[in-house]
Amino acid sequence: ESRIRAISEAIRVVPHFPKQGIMFQDITTLLLDPKAFKDTVDIFVDRYRDMNISVVAGVEARGFIFGSSIALGIGAKFVPLCKPGKLPGEVISEKYVLEYGTDCLEMHVGAVEPCERVIIIDDLVATGGTLSAAIRLLERAGAEVVECACVIGLSDLKVGCKFNGKPLYILLEPR
Ligand code: 5GP
Repeated sequence: ESRIRAISEAIRVVPHFPKQGIMFQDITTLLLDPKAFKDTVDIFVDRYRDMNISVVAGVEARGFIFGSSIALGIGAKFVPLCKPGKLPGEVISEKYVLEYGTDCLEMHVGAVEPCERVIIIDDLVATGGTLSAAIRLLERAGAEVVECACVIGLSDLKVGCKFNGKPLYILLEPR
């Protein structure tokens, strides 16, 4: 599809960021292209608008950019999943393992009602550790995770199209 090609071309690849050997997929250049940014959001909005989704959960920080736009587009609430210490209210948290050390996602208690239908949005999925933690966090709050979705994902993830038992929707592969 031509929209997908234009979106892919709007993403800049920065070699050796944040460290040697990493080909960083920089979505900030996509945000500088209003047509490609809108097309990105529209594709997700078209996919989720009739799926009875009441919550879009976005992973800090780039998941906020796409997630909040998608939430507005489908008329759902937006719930930020934050790095530790960023949310002022009472939180529930979920740790996850990184290549070196651990990290954690937090969500405000009461942001999601039990049985609400949720999609989880991030810009990119690599190992899936971040999305797994996000799924666990929302399920602990009693929500029903309908799907996870990312703008960029590795092709071998796309084959399975499932992730932690939940469907994973990926718009495009890394450049
Ligand atoms: P995972 O937990 O799947 O291994 O890593 C995904 C997380 O790392 C996402 O939150 C994503 O924002 C971040 N990430 C890792 N590599 C990249 C990259 O090349 N580009 C961008 N934009 N984010 C990345």
